[in-house]
Amino acid sequence: MPAHPGYEVVIGLEVHAQMRTQSKIFCGCSTRFGAEPNTQICPVCAAFPGVLPVLNQDAVNMAIRTGLAISGTINLHSEFSRKNYFYPDLPAGFQITQYELPIVSKGVLHIPTDGGEERSIGITRIHMEVDAGKNLHEGIAGASWVDLNRTGVPLMEIVSEPDLRSAAEAGEYLKKLRSIVRYLDVCDGNMEEGSFRCDANVSVRPRGQQVFGTRCELKNLNSIRNVMRAIDHEAERHIDVLETGGQIVQETRLWDAEKEVTRSMRGKEEAHDYRYFPEPDLPPLTITPERIAIQAAALPELPDARRDRFQTRYGLSSYDAEVLTASRDVANFFEEVVGTTNNPKTAANWVSVELLGLLNKEGKEITASPVTAQALGQLIGLVGQGTLSGKMAKQVFTSMFATGDPAEKIIAAQGLQQVSDSGTLEALVERVLTGNPQEVAQYRAGKTKLLGFFVGQIMKETQGQANPAMVNKLLKDKLAE
Ligand code: ADP
Ligand code: MG
Ligand code: ZN
Repeated sequence: MPAHPGYEVVIGLEVHAQMRTQSKIFCGCSTRFGAEPNTQICPVCAAFPGVLPVLNQDAVNMAIRTGLAISGTINLHSEFSRKNYFYPDLPAGFQITQYELPIVSKGVLHIPTDGGEERSIGITRIHMEVDAGKNLHEGIAGASWVDLNRTGVPLMEIVSEPDLRSAAEAGEYLKKLRSIVRYLDVCDGNMEEGSFRCDANVSVRPRGQQVFGTRCELKNLNSIRNVMRAIDHEAERHIDVLETGGQIVQETRLWDAEKEVTRSMRGKEEAHDYRYFPEPDLPPLTITPERIAIQAAALPELPDARRDRFQTRYGLSSYDAEVLTASRDVANFFEEVVGTTNNPKTAANWVSVELLGLLNKEGKEITASPVTAQALGQLIGLVGQGTLSGKMAKQVFTSMFATGDPAEKIIAAQGLQQVSDSGTLEALVERVLTGNPQEVAQYRAGKTKLLGFFVGQIMKETQGQANPAMVNKLLKDKLAE
């Protein structure tokens, strides 16, 4: 939240998503991440003179699917342009990108808000373009290397309208967009490795003012948390400048995560600085309605639809449904647990609170969970049967997570069986009541609060293993005699 309530923050995000194609966008080189530098290059992506690009049709299909997933218009005719600039990691001296005619226009993305409703955020366009290589500055004093493995990897640039009004909303937008591209399997969504990158455009305006303020573009944001922190700092900087009578200059700024400041990187370049012109080596891209229909038929159930289904089918709250469907793997895991227990609300709790809690702590994905969906289902079943109390189940679960062993093995090894044998419990109740005659008399005289005291005594004797429902019933019966 900006410090000044008199201003409104306006944000538009540009996301570069690397598409998960096998090969690059205009040649057959592999897109695999992490290979030795310059082992995945050829004359096309290294931009030798005279080479010709051939458009990767998988990349086109992925862009179509993404466009459909955000309810965008798929343009039957789109074009590639050359964006000219010099940089050592761009061997051609230009980037091939869709400029005036992108493959997707006018989409929308829904984000949850604090109030529980949803907000619709406009998506201006999605266009395809090539990624650049990487300059490496580490390891050799006074010199830099250029690694062209990434050159030519297909990107989608997804540009939002300036519809976001806070850092929190920007965070929700990124989470939802990342969730969608992961459901579609068109991008791995990894911000740290740079396959899902975000630039944030930020401006402020006095509340009530119609026109937007001057924006700055923030770069170097390698996590959602950093995007949010950078937006907050930048908005405060704008407000400070305006409040002290200054003016904001439109420019590109770099976020310094350690110092928590943004620094000016360069003045904002205009489109004409890049001398865009139509790419002469690629024909315009024509897409048929049949092709769009095929891609539409291949769409999986998307996060919003799955969330709504979880609410209606399993009776989950919108919050739980949102948490459980944010990732397709988590949603699949949850549905597998439900399949073995038939107890969706309890399953939702175990997955979203206990399991995700431990996984987060260890930085593990759910696909690497030491507790399988089957095993969690069994544990939930044991609580349902009264073999374990809820409290003991949590203890068992912690051991399951640490060892990967099933619940039954841990219960046997640690002697954690819940005591539900009525004979044993009755004897215990008798003993506790005879041992505390004063309290029994007080209870019978009307101080029924003392029931908790008796339960506590029995739990103490059994180290918490007595079946609480049975203990309660036995106590009440005996005390009523
Ligand atoms: P450029 O190439 O100049 O960055 P783009 O059209 O690619 O232009 O992206 C502009 C981004 O800036 C969009 O996400 C848009 O919503 C956002 N934007 C435009 N004007 C403002 C503004 N006044 N405040 C905040 N964001 C803005
Ligand atoms: Mg930009
Ligand atoms: Zn190549």
